[in-house]
Amino acid sequence: MKTSLKCIIPTCDFEGDINTEMTKCPKCGNLLDVIYSGKGIPHSFLELFKRRKATPQSIFDKSGVWRFRELLPFPLGDGNYEQVLVSLDGKEGQTSPFKLTEVAKYVGLNKERFYLQFEGDNPTGSFKDNGMAACFTHAKMLGKTKVVCASTGNTAASMAAFAANELGAMGALVFVGSDKIAIGKLAQSLEYGAKVIQIKGDFDDAMKKVLEISKKENIYLMNSVNPFRLEGQKTIMYRLLEGLGWNTPDWVVLPGGNLGNTSAFGKAFYELKKMGLIEKIPRIAIINSKGADTLHRIVNEEKIIWNNGEVDFEKIEKFYGTMDKEDRKAKTICSAIEINRPVNLLKALRTIELSKGVVRTVTDDETLDAKAIVGRNGFGCEPASATTIAGIKNLVKEGIIKKSEVVVGILTGNQLKDPVATIDYHKDKRHKFANTPVQVENDLDEITKAVSG
Ligand SMILES: [Zn+2]
Repeated sequence: MKTSLKCIIPTCDFEGDINTEMTKCPKCGNLLDVIYSGKGIPHSFLELFKRRKATPQSIFDKSGVWRFRELLPFPLGDGNYEQVLVSLDGKEGQTSPFKLTEVAKYVGLNKERFYLQFEGDNPTGSFKDNGMAACFTHAKMLGKTKVVCASTGNTAASMAAFAANELGAMGALVFVGSDKIAIGKLAQSLEYGAKVIQIKGDFDDAMKKVLEISKKENIYLMNSVNPFRLEGQKTIMYRLLEGLGWNTPDWVVLPGGNLGNTSAFGKAFYELKKMGLIEKIPRIAIINSKGADTLHRIVNEEKIIWNNGEVDFEKIEKFYGTMDKEDRKAKTICSAIEINRPVNLLKALRTIELSKGVVRTVTDDETLDAKAIVGRNGFGCEPASATTIAGIKNLVKEGIIKKSEVVVGILTGNQLKDPVATIDYHKDKRHKFANTPVQVENDLDEITKAVSG
């Protein structure tokens, strides 16, 4: 099967070699896809993927990314792929959809038809490990020894861990904004030995600078503008489908930040349908936080659509121009999606068109209440992940998601990523599901009262 890089705009004819580092079309400046030409794989491979999981012959069979390697075959070229595949000892992607009774009740869905997939169960605690396995593999194919990313925290932690494992810790360079980074994520990057540079400003400022520095210093860029990241993130949907016996759900719901997952999921479903491995594409609902709602504004207010690649670029420019003029900055408790300039905007618009998708916003209060309910179910997630739950609840209320439909929500990051947000919520009794610690004197009578109270 031939692999190449292709411009996402159908009328642009750029197609390039994958053995180069490129994140933008050299002809028109738009995003690139990794594309595969050839027949694809037959249905019998779905059994092979399952078998690799049950009786792995290598860490790549065990990996939740690489056991699906024929569905992201860019490194398989010469057959000697074990030399280039990168994995955290096969531990990435050990996730599948779960049923959660309390959360189902909270969002108003039937517990038999409602699932959540905890991507926070990845080795560094977020979905990013899926994409990093693929991106590091591409970097290795190119012989790169130094990697860089801008991050709100999760990308940094994941990249730093892979770098420490693969290249030696000094190879990782992380740019974060000075405004906000969840403490657990920063701790991870420091511990994994990455060089962390805090830039005055927010994620959007850090992202701009990282694009310049990676070019200037010729360092491999690991952000989701890199199409190989998205190849790895497609596997989140393969595991979801496998968990449902390769039956497509009616809905997949996820948080919207930089829109890498939205883009990757759309591509995964498009390719599977083209190969005849699934019959239909689910509807995808993307949930923005109210304080970082660019996609919502672009889709629901500006009415900008993919339109088979004939996007109204002028309208998008005008939108961002107004944003700059008003000095509008992203602001939400959901640090992982506190992004006003999503780099994968166009690919997300394409996913929305392809999947008859919808975009909604939720408030921080709705998100934190939803997060507390995930906790009550004995699981946990970081604030951004809980926008998924709050979004589903609202979509059920709106009647957009029907109670008879099969729904899968993606929870992107582990609850220990941002313990400060969790403690602040529970400390404040005004919150709906607050579980406030009881303060007592060191006195047995007082303690007895507190215990029985
Ligand atoms: Zn182009």
